[in-house]
Amino acid sequence: MQNLRIPGPTPCPEDVLEAMGRQMVNHRGPEFASLLTDVTEKLKRLFKTQSDVFLLTASGTGGLEAAVVNMLSPGDVVLSVSIGVFGHRFAAIASQFGAQVIPLNFEWGQAAEIDAIRQALRDNPKIKAVLVTHNETSTGVTNDLKAISALVKEFDKLLVVDAISSLGSIELPVDEWRCDVTVTGSQKGWMVPPGMAMVAVGREAWEANSRATMPRFYWDFAKAKSYLEKGQTPWTPVLSIVFAFSVALDKMLTEGLDSIIARHARIAQMTRDGIKELGLSLFAEESHASNTVTSVAASGGLDTKILVKIMREEHGIVLGGGQQTMAGKIFRIGHLGWVNEDDIAQVLAALKTALPQAGFRSGS
Ligand SMILES: *Cc1c(COP(=O)(O)O)cnc(C)c1O
Repeated sequence: MQNLRIPGPTPCPEDVLEAMGRQMVNHRGPEFASLLTDVTEKLKRLFKTQSDVFLLTASGTGGLEAAVVNMLSPGDVVLSVSIGVFGHRFAAIASQFGAQVIPLNFEWGQAAEIDAIRQALRDNPKIKAVLVTHNETSTGVTNDLKAISALVKEFDKLLVVDAISSLGSIELPVDEWRCDVTVTGSQKGWMVPPGMAMVAVGREAWEANSRATMPRFYWDFAKAKSYLEKGQTPWTPVLSIVFAFSVALDKMLTEGLDSIIARHARIAQMTRDGIKELGLSLFAEESHASNTVTSVAASGGLDTKILVKIMREEHGIVLGGGQQTMAGKIFRIGHLGWVNEDDIAQVLAALKTALPQAGFRSGS
């Protein structure tokens, strides 16, 4: 079996995959209604929220688009706090739908600076919402969302969070941190195949939703809410993923959210320590290094493309490369969802042989 160590899609446990093979049910019938109610309730426990949570048939990006079109009107001023590829994507969606996006971009590899966000909010009183990536998968950096949230709420703005690669793996109590819309995706920390986005919609978000005029049909949260009250989704849901998700959620609740978060922290630390022992250096500023994905700088003559190829072909380990301008500059190790120490020990052992073959000279 391959050791799939990219930051999504992530490996799925056998019983989760088996659930995918279940026969179809009527998505307007009683079996699905009880499944949907059960899955939604369990999900709320892992999101730590009392607000509405919807399952959308989409990859994570669909969830981001849904958040934008349900919260905003064309012309609305939004602050985009971006520290990488996914932050830029969130901003691009908002601007595509006519929002007036104020970009606040930080150097890739660094977390967003609280003081700079404060200054931007002071300078632009018309800002209505702040878009932020909790965990920037492209650079392996986790923003201090708790502090960002406190600030955004001090200024009384809406907080819209891309938590696609953090929720369920890294601490994010949605209600306590006053996130208005929070988006995640099935193929990241949830141990489920791609195909479903999950979004939490809070009270202030509903107020914004009632006034927001961006065009929306498939993504309409108000429709999702009225159907959920009947135990349905507005459109045919990705049933096989919901079956699998139900199994995965039970596994997560059995392990317990605190244990899951602690396991991710432990495994991430082991990854970072191992990387440094190999003579490599982390790309992300260490104080904000992600617990779901580790980005490693290409130093010492390392050719990351060759490394990724050798790891895949000779060791059965699939690593992530760098995206966009990061190509060739970093490689990434995903450690979220169904992951344990052995998976990482295998990666580190294989790197030891593969690195010199890919041109790396320690200390050079
Ligand atoms: C994976 C990811 C996305 C995009 O998700 P898709 O499922 O590929 O659409 C967006 N944001 C973050 C932070 C991600 O990790």
